[in-house]
Amino acid sequence: MNAEELLTLKVRLLTQGAAVPEDVSGARRGGAGPVGARYFVLPNGRPVGVPLRRGDAATRFNSAPLTPTDDPMVWVYDGRYRLRAVPRPKFYDLKTADGVPYFKIALLHGSETLATTAYQQCRYWTRGAQCKFCTIPTSLNAGDTILEKTPEQLAEVVQAAEAEGVIRNILITTGTPDSEDVGIGRLIRLVTAIRRVSDLPIGVQFEPPQDLNLIDELAAAGADAAGIHLETTDERIRRLICPGKYGYGPIDLYRRAWERAVSVFGRGNASTFILHGLGEDSSLTLEGIRQIAEAGVLPVVTPFRPASGSQLADSTPSYLSDMSETIHFYKRVGEILRDEGLNPDRTRAGCHKCGGCTPIQEAFDWAASQ
Ligand code: SF4
Repeated sequence: MNAEELLTLKVRLLTQGAAVPEDVSGARRGGAGPVGARYFVLPNGRPVGVPLRRGDAATRFNSAPLTPTDDPMVWVYDGRYRLRAVPRPKFYDLKTADGVPYFKIALLHGSETLATTAYQQCRYWTRGAQCKFCTIPTSLNAGDTILEKTPEQLAEVVQAAEAEGVIRNILITTGTPDSEDVGIGRLIRLVTAIRRVSDLPIGVQFEPPQDLNLIDELAAAGADAAGIHLETTDERIRRLICPGKYGYGPIDLYRRAWERAVSVFGRGNASTFILHGLGEDSSLTLEGIRQIAEAGVLPVVTPFRPASGSQLADSTPSYLSDMSETIHFYKRVGEILRDEGLNPDRTRAGCHKCGGCTPIQEAFDWAASQ
């Protein structure tokens, strides 16, 4: 498959998703990452978290069929693309010394990233000002995870996953607690504990702190990369979709935090999610993405996914209205990354290293092939 076909395939899988028979399950119910999706490996060896849809939802999203084959690990998408399912890791069957199943502490995201949510609540939910796409309490309420992961528990899971040979990097995200340090103290304790048992790259994600020295402290503890997520560069949409975060931090606060993160971790090892499909202005968004990339920050441009348990569960993303325009948008993103020398593959850690939710690697590869 050439770069054009791979980019198109990945964007279609991430946006339109796949139509599956009613009896197929296996999608995650909530938390960070591709909720409502199952991981497969594309023909280029990279993972994709495919939203599995049925009935009316499949029709509304124009999802092509995903059909099983005689090999339970191989599925065929749209009658011609063979996708290999990511196997369930064995460490999911273990329990921590204090009796918590490992899968409630951390999960395999994509095919090589161990991901955890340090604190499974957020100050904006308690105020009714949560981001409208967010589902952070859903997996907690379903009993699929625990509220807070201790350093000892996480270090145990890291050791087991690394010994099994199924992870190459680690990602720690967090809901924002009601504390001045926006949860960075907890992240520092977790990173410190992992560093005692593993040398794998660690990415951490948090809201921009008022005290930027906390970013240096994270690096000193052993973190390799930071995700500080603006979510959208269209301020009208940011205000509408992320009312709590919008009220907390103006864009300038993000710019200062990114600048510090780039100075500490290096170009491309500071990143920010930019969601696509919330009704944002396309040219404003691309201009914002260019400015972010020029500052050495990797824009992790990602199709927004309406998730059950979020306020936008029943919404229809704007990217669905014109798929060729959507592909064109990701090509422009790829050109920006190429022009700024920001190859996601060359960075150490972050959501893009899993790459299950975002087509930016395929967009970069397409642009580099032109
Ligand atoms: S900041 Fe927004 S997306 Fe993040 S956990 Fe809180 S409500 Fe959810």
